[in-house]
Amino acid sequence: MSTNIEELDIPDYERVIHATNSDTGLDCFIAIHSTKLGPAIGGSRFWKYEKTHDAIEDVLKLSKGMTYKNSLAGLDAGGGKAVINLRNAEKTPELLRSFGEVVDACNGKYLTAEDVGSSPADMQIINEMTKHVLLTDRDPSPATALGVIRGMEASVNFLRQEMAPGQSLKDLHISIQGLGHVGMALARMLHDKGATLTVTDIDKDKCLKVKEKYDASIVEPDDIYDVECDIFAPCALGGSVNKETVERLRCKILCGAANNQLCVSMVGYALKDKGIINVPDFLVNAGGVIDAYKDFSLLPSDFHVANMIDGIYDRALICLKIAEDSDVPTNLIAEQMANKRLNR
Ligand code: NAD
Repeated sequence: MSTNIEELDIPDYERVIHATNSDTGLDCFIAIHSTKLGPAIGGSRFWKYEKTHDAIEDVLKLSKGMTYKNSLAGLDAGGGKAVINLRNAEKTPELLRSFGEVVDACNGKYLTAEDVGSSPADMQIINEMTKHVLLTDRDPSPATALGVIRGMEASVNFLRQEMAPGQSLKDLHISIQGLGHVGMALARMLHDKGATLTVTDIDKDKCLKVKEKYDASIVEPDDIYDVECDIFAPCALGGSVNKETVERLRCKILCGAANNQLCVSMVGYALKDKGIINVPDFLVNAGGVIDAYKDFSLLPSDFHVANMIDGIYDRALICLKIAEDSDVPTNLIAEQMANKRLNR
């Protein structure tokens, strides 16, 4: 196969490559933001990007977010990400194998896993060409949803000034944007905890499923921002919380799984000014990568997935408390917490 790999010189990133294969239609970027704490772990996003520039921007933002996420989660792993542009290609086994070759060419500095647009079955095909693949046998989304629940419990208890986790989500009204792998798992868990749900997705069938199974109310995708609720959980794509949508939000807490929910980090100030508690995405959505880390060959013997995910509760509380004391947006405090470990 004729794979071409071009190195891009991007300041503050250890390595960024653009790989193409004219036979399979592969057009991908892999960004390794940092390997300070260990090999860069981050999923492979298969998506139709209209412009190449959008794909680069996404891979840079997402890989940097993975550095913070893995650092905060206490993993000995750095941050990286791959985006595969399906604008002019189908996700065929041949394309997946040629992507596997590119992952292999990173020599173990980048370990890939599932993300939006990929599945364990895809990971198995990539795994034919490289051993640097995690999560070939399971979906990380329930683990991610559990971490989001821990973040919600922490923020609700923080608001109520109770410092112990418990039945804190019972009878709360929670709105979910996006009912994909994580959103669906989150809806199930929240329903089991006695929360009332309002949901949306661009896929109506998913909404109807959640209405039927979990008695959720459905709103149109653009109306989700106006729902008066206790917690708004973005679980679709990034950037949905911006200057305009913050104005419309009528929630007390923002806590969801989507990576890079804030369109730019300064939106954290707008949320703070509005009195909305933002539980930073890269702090609460680490459950999936913690689960993926279980497959890592250099795993410490005392590593326990459930305990590591439960730790999100304490980290969220610490972050909210420091932010309140210092009057700084929570997302900036979480970045400081991640940098502290990175710079140790
Ligand atoms: P997914 O592709 O399975 O689901 C995304 C859902 O969002 C789809 O159902 C899609 O129809 C819906 N959607 C897209 N645009 C929408 C819009 N404008 N309004 C409403 N719904 C919309 O993805 P996922 O695996 O569930 O991941 C969701 C988010 O969580 C992503 O941002 C992902 O990066 C992040 N995340 C996922 C994991 C994981 O374990 N899967 C881990 C960490 C972070």
